[in-house]
Amino acid sequence: MNILVINCGSSSLKYQLINSASEEVLAKGLCERIGIDGKLTYQPEGGEKEKSDVSMPTHTEAIDAVIKALTNEKTGVIKSLSEVGAVGHRVVHGGEKFTSSCIINEESLKAIEECNELAPLHNPANLIGIHACQELMPGVPMVAVFDTAFHQTMPEKAFIYGLPYEYYENYKVRRYGFHGTSHSYVSKRTAEIVGKPYEEMKIIVCHLGNGASVSAVDCGKSVDTSMGLTPLEGLVMGTRSGDIDPAILEYVGKKENKNLDELMEVLNKKSGLLGISCLSSDGRDLEDAAESGNAKAQLALDIFDYRVIKYVGAYAAVMNGVDAIAFTAGIGENNKELRKNVCANLGYLGVKIDDEKNNVRGEERIISTDDSKVKVLLVPTNEELAIARETLALVK
Ligand code: AMP
Repeated sequence: MNILVINCGSSSLKYQLINSASEEVLAKGLCERIGIDGKLTYQPEGGEKEKSDVSMPTHTEAIDAVIKALTNEKTGVIKSLSEVGAVGHRVVHGGEKFTSSCIINEESLKAIEECNELAPLHNPANLIGIHACQELMPGVPMVAVFDTAFHQTMPEKAFIYGLPYEYYENYKVRRYGFHGTSHSYVSKRTAEIVGKPYEEMKIIVCHLGNGASVSAVDCGKSVDTSMGLTPLEGLVMGTRSGDIDPAILEYVGKKENKNLDELMEVLNKKSGLLGISCLSSDGRDLEDAAESGNAKAQLALDIFDYRVIKYVGAYAAVMNGVDAIAFTAGIGENNKELRKNVCANLGYLGVKIDDEKNNVRGEERIISTDDSKVKVLLVPTNEELAIARETLALVK
């Protein structure tokens, strides 16, 4: 069965068509500037990447453009829409309602809508993508795969904040965690590569990209993760602050005469690597700048590494040990210095990194020495494949 995986944002939409039997990506691409002018990127397997201007006033035209590209006589990979057996949608927030993926129907759509206020920037866009697909592909089964679902196994002591309990009861203020599809995929792959039962391993996953989070996966269950009610908490990220003293909001708000909306904009868009370095949110730019002697770029990278070290230590403590640590996502997969620096501080856990094995980008492999007590791995994440697998499991 061919499964169309859709990751829909407010003005963009990423897609992949995956053959579920071979798990091959038949075609992939991106719609950008939806609601503005519209740009389609389309790449069939083994073929050239094509970019074209396509009018996309709404997401419906964007999905229509994707279908036309997939079924195009010359460069298409399927003859007609009937060759799409199911659609898997990434949905950011499933609140406490969704502990796993679900078939999309009227009832589940209503429940997803009820989670909108927990992720006002993301969930409404995800829903627009679902509605557009329903309009253009009536009768094709669809599945929602949630970023939060994998972390719903966290115990109360990990997800309740030190706030009045009524905020949880009245407004569902709690830790949800994100990147769940990635943490689930990478932790499972880690167990497979190490060759031990997933249900018997203590694994720490470091998903380090523009957005970044660490999770503690104990016997196949997420027991803690660094992101919280929103994806702002935890590690220092590209433009997000991660953990700060909440009193800073009041202090800086008064100094700079900024209201809460303006302060939140600073925490989400102007902080993190960008804010510290005063240069860029991109790890590559900072590596280059640091190499040419830019002290703030180096500081930003040092702080990024330091926060990862703290979370890994905390999660090893939470699980009373760790068998494997996996690095994934843009920075985790590509930045060997980061992996080396983090592991250099984990000697007390029995971590020994092999510099030669670590000298690699984006390749699935063990990067610790043979005698390292804790296995360290590089596991490229594949959220689209994970969504396709979840979709297949539910529609079969
Ligand atoms: P992601 O959000 O997973 O796409 O990751 C984005 C981050 O990964 C950015 O900070 C990039 O600088 C970093 N990144 C992506 N590719 C590379 C690469 N080839 N080398 C170093 N960093 C990279």
